[in-house]
Amino acid sequence: MSTAKRIIRPEIQALAAYHVMDASGLVKLDVMESPYRLPEWLAKEVGEVVANLELNRYPIPTANKLRGLIKQTMGVPAGCEVLLGNGSDECITYITTAIGKPGAVVLAPSPSFVIFQMAAMFQHLKFVGVPLNDDFSLDADKFIAAVKEHQPALTWIAYPNNPTGNAFAVKDIERIIAAASGLVVIDEAYQPFADGSFMPRLNEFDNVVVMRTVSKIGMAGMRLGYVAGKPEWINEFDKTRPPYNINVMTEAVAIKLLEHKAVLDEQARAILAEREVVAAELRKLPQLTVYPSATNFVLARVAGEKGAAAKVFDAMKAAGVLIKNLSGGHPALENCLRITIGTPEEDRAMLAALKAALR
Ligand code: PMP
Repeated sequence: MSTAKRIIRPEIQALAAYHVMDASGLVKLDVMESPYRLPEWLAKEVGEVVANLELNRYPIPTANKLRGLIKQTMGVPAGCEVLLGNGSDECITYITTAIGKPGAVVLAPSPSFVIFQMAAMFQHLKFVGVPLNDDFSLDADKFIAAVKEHQPALTWIAYPNNPTGNAFAVKDIERIIAAASGLVVIDEAYQPFADGSFMPRLNEFDNVVVMRTVSKIGMAGMRLGYVAGKPEWINEFDKTRPPYNINVMTEAVAIKLLEHKAVLDEQARAILAEREVVAAELRKLPQLTVYPSATNFVLARVAGEKGAAAKVFDAMKAAGVLIKNLSGGHPALENCLRITIGTPEEDRAMLAALKAALR
């Protein structure tokens, strides 16, 4: 046995590395990015900002200016603090590390965002996934029973949820918060495409923080996520963060773009309107069950035998359109395809490829 084989944790050896497909030359509708680039005038201003950076210097560890701008532009309530991560993926690690006493339990609906479970495993914590209903709605009574049984230190609620796309009922989430003796993180990655938010309500609860990202509103390449909450939580999470986690380019460009947030908001509105067009078109296809979406993607299940979705996925890819086949990842997602909303032109290409694949 090699030294590496002997030394590396067996559960890490058993993992497959997070796989993202090569999208070169394809219409890219696989990972919930915004299809829109910056207008040229703004891209030029970004170029100037980057050109003037002191790349020889480390970032300012507190990233005060960017955090202040996030508080201001994202509706963070007075008295709350903000923690920044290199993507909200990284915030998940900080939170899990901070609560990770030996024996602590992490709980989330299942299926939900896979990184919640992975972060728990990396910290040697027990993860409990509470199955959603067949239509991916939340069974609040079952969820609360699991909260009472397992007493999780940390409960994740992606609101709206990935990969299912739906937003759970607010009153159900309120009941979960009331039943939880530990921290509840409301992950609002898809908030720009949803109706509700817990952000304005942060001061109502002593066991809730809200996590968000700028990835879905045109800045996925920058890797910037944040957690907002009472200082008693945020100041502790902050101690687990490497001091220079937000690089100077991300910080400076995010400041520039948030100063022009109206541009990003307009792009998000276009995606939202386009989602309704795409969902209506998908619903016309009798081979698909289309689930409700409060996000920038739509989840659909292909009727038929095991492998039906894989055939559709392969045919679409051969026709130049990359979506995500969720089959194989979770039993509830068999034959499910996740389609990110693109530009109207990209979506026409997607629909044509999909219809041809279903024929
Ligand atoms: N939470 C949810 C629910 C997500 O779907 C994603 C991205 N797929 C993330 C968090 C992480 O986003 P990022 O790291 O790009 O901020």
